[in-house]
Amino acid sequence: MNALIERLEAMGRQGGAVALGLAGVLVAVGGVLVWASVGAEGWWLYGYRFPAAILGAFVLALVFVGVRLLTQRHYPSAAEVFPPLAKADFTAAVRERPHAVCACARCRVVLDAAFSTGSCPVCASSVDYYEVNTDEDAEMVILALP
Ligand SMILES: [Zn+2]
Repeated sequence: MNALIERLEAMGRQGGAVALGLAGVLVAVGGVLVWASVGAEGWWLYGYRFPAAILGAFVLALVFVGVRLLTQRHYPSAAEVFPPLAKADFTAAVRERPHAVCACARCRVVLDAAFSTGSCPVCASSVDYYEVNTDEDAEMVILALP
């Protein structure tokens, strides 16, 4: 069940729809069980109650997961906020900077030096991350591109 929930969470919003769909299937299975047991007699009917309770717990868990995945807010990661620039765009952004910038050669991101905290916002590296003030700095960052 945990592996299933992790898998659904990895799917994001679609996972929420899948979870609710699975819950619907389980409710249908439970409905068939109830329908099959109507009017039936015998010791084996007692055997339905425990599976039905387990089924109910699964349905509840899936509904909770589904509703949460469908309604939760998506917080973008740093890599989504700063997508890697194409090599040519990175080179141009570093060479034609309007003011001091900071650039990560590993992630190919360029940002205003005023907003920099001294390490790359995407990979947290301070080794591949350069402050570019002069044309020499710019050429060094471009040479450092992998
Ligand atoms: Zn980086």
